[in-house]
Amino acid sequence: MTLELRHLQAGYGRAQVLHDVNLTVPAGAAVALLGSNGAGKTTLLKTIAGLVHPTAGEVRWNDRVQGTRTPHARVADGICLIPEGRGIFRNLTVAENLAMHTRGRNKARAIETATRYFPVLGQRLSQTAGTMSGGQQQMLAVARALVTQPQLLMIDELSVGLAPVVIDEIFAAVEMLRAEGRSLLVVEQYVHRALAIADYVYILQKGRIVFVGEPAQCRSGTIFERYLGEG
Ligand code: ATP
Repeated sequence: MTLELRHLQAGYGRAQVLHDVNLTVPAGAAVALLGSNGAGKTTLLKTIAGLVHPTAGEVRWNDRVQGTRTPHARVADGICLIPEGRGIFRNLTVAENLAMHTRGRNKARAIETATRYFPVLGQRLSQTAGTMSGGQQQMLAVARALVTQPQLLMIDELSVGLAPVVIDEIFAAVEMLRAEGRSLLVVEQYVHRALAIADYVYILQKGRIVFVGEPAQCRSGTIFERYLGEG
């Protein structure tokens, strides 16, 4: 399943944020979306998820134009967004978070799937999510998404505020996902971490794609200095 954005424009009311964005995530590939604050990265992910509607151009998933299809319909088709700020239910337990959209036997399967990626969550199933460390909450956010077995996982700022060792653990789970042939679209503040998992890199600046290429082209030299130096 391939994701294709063609001449995409989107924004909020009269404020246009994305300008003529073309981007492809081939089936099974990992794409890093980089760019400075306010470049439009979150808006791009939200447009793919159906939370923001394009004013022109199109989002195609598996050759189907998404148009005004609801976020829910897109999730059912395998597109999953983990938003910045995690999107977990802090007052519910870990198990309740994991099994939220399932019933009966599927509940056990959801928990089994999640703990395969993050064994530490298995020891905390009855703990209230909001009382765990930031790193464990982020693991839970990723685990919740994995339970839906997405074909395309989009992650916005996975590692904000987390200790390096925790980030390693979360990236290891993301690597497992890739090994299973799923696709990734990742917005990440730590440029080198993003480059380490990516097959392709897109750089967004003021809502326009200014670079498309492979990680090796970005690690040093002109591209890095021009667009990524602060990362
Ligand atoms: P960051 O790394 O800071 O999250 P970003 O690249 O993800 O930045 P966006 O969050 O997509 O960028 O924001 C792009 C632009 O859209 C910014 O100018 C921002 O102020 C504006 N914007 C974001 N969300 C909204 C909103 N709900 N309503 C109006 N404008 C918004």
